[in-house]
Amino acid sequence: MQKVLNYINGEWVEPKVTEYLDVVNPATGELLGRTPVCGPDDVAAAAQAASQALPGWRRTPAQERVQYLFKLRDLMKANMDEISRTIVMECGKTFEEAKAEMVRAIENVEVACGMPILSKGEIAEDIAPGIDEIMIRQPVGVCATICPFNFPGMIPFWYLPYAIACGNTYIIKPSEKVPLTMQLIFKLIEQIGLPKGVINLVNGAKEAVDAILDHPVIRGITFVGSTPVARYIYRRAAEQGKRVQAQGGAKNPVIILPDADMEMATKIIADSAFGCAGQRCLAVSLAVTVGEARNEFTELICDAASSRVVGYGLDAGVQMGPVINHASKTRIEQFITQGSQGGAKVCVDGRGTVIKGYEKGSFVRPTIVADVRPGDELWKTEIFGPVLGLMHVNTIDEAIALANSHVYGNQASLFTSSGSAARKFRYEVEAGNVGINIGVAAPMAFFPFSGWKESFFGDLHGQGMDAVEFFTQKKVVIERWPKEWTRKF
Ligand code: NAD
Repeated sequence: MQKVLNYINGEWVEPKVTEYLDVVNPATGELLGRTPVCGPDDVAAAAQAASQALPGWRRTPAQERVQYLFKLRDLMKANMDEISRTIVMECGKTFEEAKAEMVRAIENVEVACGMPILSKGEIAEDIAPGIDEIMIRQPVGVCATICPFNFPGMIPFWYLPYAIACGNTYIIKPSEKVPLTMQLIFKLIEQIGLPKGVINLVNGAKEAVDAILDHPVIRGITFVGSTPVARYIYRRAAEQGKRVQAQGGAKNPVIILPDADMEMATKIIADSAFGCAGQRCLAVSLAVTVGEARNEFTELICDAASSRVVGYGLDAGVQMGPVINHASKTRIEQFITQGSQGGAKVCVDGRGTVIKGYEKGSFVRPTIVADVRPGDELWKTEIFGPVLGLMHVNTIDEAIALANSHVYGNQASLFTSSGSAARKFRYEVEAGNVGINIGVAAPMAFFPFSGWKESFFGDLHGQGMDAVEFFTQKKVVIERWPKEWTRKF
């Protein structure tokens, strides 16, 4: 069993806590480690280290700062398999999914390596005779990120490389459910030779989060997780005048028009709904068929769900792993039962799944529930498991209105071969990440990860130029240098 430590001021530190939370392999039930429930003292130590490192780091030229990221990128690439195995063991996804996650993490490091050009300012000469105006981007200060369980290797990298490349110092708090991936990544961070205190790691749960929100030295906070917690983070950080962005939960609709390539659509939608056991904030969870699309799509998606190979993500040929823990499995199964009692039809039933050899695992097989109606729990609530609800309407207008009536706006997808239907959808749909014949519209590292509505609280998002904007504050300088003052040399 692995000890979970903090990393503060360039040292591994064993926190002095009395409470620990178990880290369990969701496929095998094996105890992997115990997360220390850190609190204000640990956060204060990290904040102090970050604060002390700030003046020197800020003065380090951007082109020197990114040299550390080049080294980190190479180490992440070289250690990708080991990190991915750890992600599978603590988080439950398949090895291929974990590797894909790490590819995205590395892409963000690569984009942040462009910081010398990305963070340049602007200048306008002669805004009035002899007067110039300059905009400079300066770091915000000490920043912190609070992470969810579902992408322990990727989500920290929506922020970390941008934060430090912009000259901030930084604290990261992983999810208490999956702290081991960051233990491994910090062993790599240790090797790149950053000055002490530039990046710090604090483990724990709500107590650590509250301490981050309240610590006066921490000026910028990014969060990714469920909507109720995102709302709380946004409010409490903003109340204290902090810069904050909080990405929340999702309930992503996909619309299937009759002119879609049904085989392609089904394969992509199944990958989206059941990939990572449905525990992706961009997983589609409601499929809305239009007109004649209904019968063929229903038949094909039920086949795709029933034939998916479920098991331990480190075993060859497995296409879907377990959900994160027993509590999650129970919750997901309750939603399916409640849906069927309320009149929905369970076409493919993943309840009660037991995988041979992994009887202690938290498995739920892919599930398809038809005849979901607006207002049902299966419509309203983010299930965060491999459950796809089916709905049916007669026109694309009805389908878009249905999608737009949801409180979430993380992602919406359309499957069609019509360009004008695609344009209409792109134009009208109220979601920040849109897929046209795409099931997981995950923005590349050089685009913002753009949730809307209850899926996001803030204005600047993670990744790309939004991250540069978030992790810098603009200073505008207006200078007058009268011509008459020019000395003759
Ligand atoms: P979560 O909200 O339970 O936890 C996220 C973080 O918040 C963890 O670090 C946790 O320690 C902390 N936390 C939990 N409860 C808290 C409380 N009451 N007060 C203060 N801090 C608290 O989320 P999760 O279950 O780890 O992750 C799944 C959720 O994250 C889903 O809703 C998913 O949609 C969402 N998510 C969103 C995105 C996005 O980009 N919008 C990406 C990934 C995951």
